[in-house]
Amino acid sequence: RSSVTRLSQAARTAAGSAAISSSTPGPYCWVNPAAPSSSSSGPLAGRSIAIKDNISFSGAPTSCSSRILDGYVPPYDATCVQLLTAAGAHIAGKAKMDEFGMGSLTTHMPTSYSAVHNPSGPDGDAEPRYAGGSSGGSAAAVAEGTAWAALGTDTGGSVRLPASYCGIVGHKPSYGMISRHGVVSYADSLDCVGVLAKSVSSVRDVFGVVSQPDDNDMTCASTEDREKAATAASKVTGPLRIGIPIQTHLEAPNVQLPTALLEYLRDTGATLHAVDMPSFRMALPAYYVLATAEAASNLGRFGGGWYGADWEKEKVEGEETGMQRRRRIRTTGFGDEVRKRILAGTHALTADAFNNSYLKALSLRRDVRRDFAAVFRAAHPVSGGDAPSKDGVDVLLFPTAVRTAPKFGQASSGAKEYLQDILTVPASLAGLPAISVPAGRAEDGWPIGVSLVGQWGHDEVVFRAAEGVE
Ligand code: GLN
Repeated sequence: RSSVTRLSQAARTAAGSAAISSSTPGPYCWVNPAAPSSSSSGPLAGRSIAIKDNISFSGAPTSCSSRILDGYVPPYDATCVQLLTAAGAHIAGKAKMDEFGMGSLTTHMPTSYSAVHNPSGPDGDAEPRYAGGSSGGSAAAVAEGTAWAALGTDTGGSVRLPASYCGIVGHKPSYGMISRHGVVSYADSLDCVGVLAKSVSSVRDVFGVVSQPDDNDMTCASTEDREKAATAASKVTGPLRIGIPIQTHLEAPNVQLPTALLEYLRDTGATLHAVDMPSFRMALPAYYVLATAEAASNLGRFGGGWYGADWEKEKVEGEETGMQRRRRIRTTGFGDEVRKRILAGTHALTADAFNNSYLKALSLRRDVRRDFAAVFRAAHPVSGGDAPSKDGVDVLLFPTAVRTAPKFGQASSGAKEYLQDILTVPASLAGLPAISVPAGRAEDGWPIGVSLVGQWGHDEVVFRAAEGVE
């Protein structure tokens, strides 16, 4: 990455002046002033695609909703953006998000960013609700129709949760399918770029373009592994065996899979099986230890030196040591939620807490992976693992969220916010493909989504199952 030439300071300042100080209303923090080109060609020609503001697009600011990056303009395009534009897509704009992806409602943003409204409420419901997070801008842009599709990122549910709240489709691919080169890290071992659109077929079209090997990201799946995965996925034929983890019902007794959906699936020939995944409920606490630990380490790179705001302009009384300067910049540059996570993550990595929190969380992550491996009919196409069980299932099905979109001011902090991820984090810890598909509306008239999760590399199987649900 160091070989990349930086844009000139003047070009960076010109592009960056549109950043945090003058943010746009609605789902975007930056709208592309250029119109879509009428002469583009390729599989996504003329398609407007919004990208989450943690994905680099040169010539536009990347703020990650953080003051610490105010005015930062990346000097290159993320690999996924290069692939989109090469396929003829038009980048509609940068979509608002929770700061560095930390949140579930797109509320952790600079005060100058106007709120993102969920556009998918029932007619006549005037009370504003959240779009979900952290890719809330991406989901709202698609739901309101200003973007045909959007890229988000999903570390613990940030594509699936807003898709569910906004009544659209959101896909978190198998870990490593979409390059993270040029995507600002939150928790590397969990971060996935994901796709949001109104239909499974549109999601598949975008995924087909951006799911490519990349030498610039060593965690991106190789051509060889992709071939193994495709061969394994193509063997899943005939009526689907669908598993419903009993734990999802125990964790979220108030939400149920729509009966009409289950009956419809039975009519298509699919068989439904209750499966036992005892570690499911430990995923959330494990996730919050691992994600914050990785975040504390990743965010160490922001200290007012290399990226972002021109901190030299800030008036400082008297002399300041390097440490004092770094403390001032990180204290004012990061928002409350991010500072809280850095503290929590740093604590988990200290000598005193390491064994009881970080190592414990890693071991819970292994349990979660093992639970998934035990219920699938197909083995992991690359690592193999335990012998697959012929009684196993092809995909798992359960509600995406424990509720519909919260009203403004509701469930927006602390444990109430974290609990919204309880059904999405297990697939994240196991690195498995997961897709949330709209499944009608709840009694309050707002959309609900259901998730399908498959074996690693079986993104196509998950799409096929999702088309049955759609
Ligand atoms: N809500 C979760 C968190 O705050 C997930 C976020 C994400 O997937 N980026 O960590």
